[in-house]
Amino acid sequence: MTTLAEAGRALALESARYAALGWMRGTAGNLSVVLEHDPLRLAVTVSGRDKGELTDDDVVVVDATGATTDPVKVPSAEAGLHGRIASVSGAGAVVHVHAFAPVVAAEYWPGGVELRDLEMLKGFGRAAHDDLVTIPVIPNGQDMRVLGDAFEAGYRSDTPALLVARHGIYVWGEDLRQARHRLECLEWLLRFAVETKRGVA
Ligand SMILES: [Zn+2]
Repeated sequence: MTTLAEAGRALALESARYAALGWMRGTAGNLSVVLEHDPLRLAVTVSGRDKGELTDDDVVVVDATGATTDPVKVPSAEAGLHGRIASVSGAGAVVHVHAFAPVVAAEYWPGGVELRDLEMLKGFGRAAHDDLVTIPVIPNGQDMRVLGDAFEAGYRSDTPALLVARHGIYVWGEDLRQARHRLECLEWLLRFAVETKRGVA
């Protein structure tokens, strides 16, 4: 089982990596790993820190609703959606970044972004050919219960990603490494979709 200290170190390293890609600008974005599935306990990055400069201690434990009993540390405001995604999907890690192409894609295709016949889909865990992949899009908001309900309504176990319009992207996996690989490939796929788009949606 992952300890909180191990989780803190892993989350700081992952955050620095995403920050270097320009996907966690300012203090944007948040990452989590599951410490325990039943009852669900997640280690999530704390609120308001530069994601390129997190320390192993910039992590806090939350429950499935994103609430913490920590008297000092403040979890990310979006921890509740991490909790909902982990409890619905059974994921071991959830990553959320404010990369640009995913948000543009959600703007063009608010009903869901369709991807198919692209080699990089294999890196997302789907087939390179004859497999229509639709990345769901939900409206942005500040109430994580509302976002969680919208996520759950459109959830499919074979599509481990969610776009939040005018906000960012969530991707999940068995662990941080798998989530990262999926996110890297999906960001490429969404950039391809945006940059090859012609005319009006
Ligand atoms: Zn965000």
